[in-house]
Amino acid sequence: MTKSLNIGLVSLGCPKALVDSEHIITSLRAQGYSFSADYAGADIVIVNSCGFINSAKAESLEAIGEAIDKNGKVIVTGCLGVEEQLIRSIHPKVLAISGPHQYEEVIRAVHKYLPPEPNPFTNLVPQQGLKLTPKHYSYLKISEGCNNSCSFCIIPNIRGPLKSRPIASILYEAERLVKAGTKELLIISQDTGAYGMDIKYAKSKYYGKEIEAKFSELANYLAKLNIWVRFHYIYPYPHIDAILPLMADSKILPYLDIPFQHASPKILKSMRRPANQEKTLNRIKKWRKICPDLAIRSTFIVGFPGESEEDFEFLLDWIKEAEIDRIGCFEYEPVDGAKANQLGNQIDPKIKSERYERLMQVAQDISAKRLALRVGQVTELLVDKIDFANNRAIARSKWDAPDIDGVVYIEGIKSIKEGDFCQVKITASDNYDLWGIKVKNNGQT
Ligand code: SF4
Repeated sequence: MTKSLNIGLVSLGCPKALVDSEHIITSLRAQGYSFSADYAGADIVIVNSCGFINSAKAESLEAIGEAIDKNGKVIVTGCLGVEEQLIRSIHPKVLAISGPHQYEEVIRAVHKYLPPEPNPFTNLVPQQGLKLTPKHYSYLKISEGCNNSCSFCIIPNIRGPLKSRPIASILYEAERLVKAGTKELLIISQDTGAYGMDIKYAKSKYYGKEIEAKFSELANYLAKLNIWVRFHYIYPYPHIDAILPLMADSKILPYLDIPFQHASPKILKSMRRPANQEKTLNRIKKWRKICPDLAIRSTFIVGFPGESEEDFEFLLDWIKEAEIDRIGCFEYEPVDGAKANQLGNQIDPKIKSERYERLMQVAQDISAKRLALRVGQVTELLVDKIDFANNRAIARSKWDAPDIDGVVYIEGIKSIKEGDFCQVKITASDNYDLWGIKVKNNGQT
């Protein structure tokens, strides 16, 4: 009998990196490798690193160091992989280094340092591939890279220009995931609204029918799957309007994740963002008229070079007027290689953290106010986890994405399972989360 070859995987960074990790483990599983949940049981460790900002780089370097200390045989891939010299200068023992979505390089390195054993019985991989998320939700990556050039970001240098997948391959993958138990699809990329622009909306055949690689077509077809479909990393381009009627019709979740980053026209210009705040505010108001239930999630950067108190207050007022439901905030960090590093008037760290606190207070007030409006409603939830110790289930509503938004705690766990949809009456709210009680089909608790 052949000995199983075990691989350890440390996956850092955003959902896009997580999808890369899923591709890597799927390929390796297909070749007969097994996986170990700890360093001791692994014959080799792959670290899928993040290099988005300096603090993420530091975390990745630390993870690489830990893997070397605890295992010794380490392959590095992912966004930080483009900085091979930096990694080698700190961790000379790393066996191989590759950049993001270079799956073949990773597989080649694994073959070199842990050659596969020929075994006809191990080639058993589910058709939908292996996932790192729970069975009931899956990330679906529709494109790689980005054609924008935001001055604080080095993603286009790391991941390259926009490269959209053919629409048929996305739809077939979506179907495979649904057949395997996915109840919620989270659509991701660097710039989801730009889908298809690079390939000039090239058609591909889906069940014999030629379909254009357009954002609106993608949304229309995904809407037919009759599951939860959630869009992330959208920019407020005019053609996004097309999915609002689908949201109002409950075909697509009424949720948009739009990283606005700022609102002051001066700062947006200096950030080289692909949107105009005034038109954006009107667009949000228009969206909420079409779909009053819409929840908007966004991220903002405070303390960008040149951000005056006036710019910052403009941002706070804009956030209040736009009533952004869910907010993540970062203090500006110069990232090696980003154009914004050359801008003058860097902001004092104390001012940055004071602005961070002020913005998060505004975010919390809006979140608390908007969540309080949900109390008394009966809504459908997807159960992520059963918390046996506290006799409750942890679930999400259509307004909550996994890991980044709040949750809904359902009191009691009788006849509730992970991955179930259930109707829940919302009974209480706090700043970020909700509480509720499961209701029967007749609406009784
Ligand atoms: S849109 Fe801007 S911030 Fe987002 S990946 Fe592209 S360049 Fe970076």
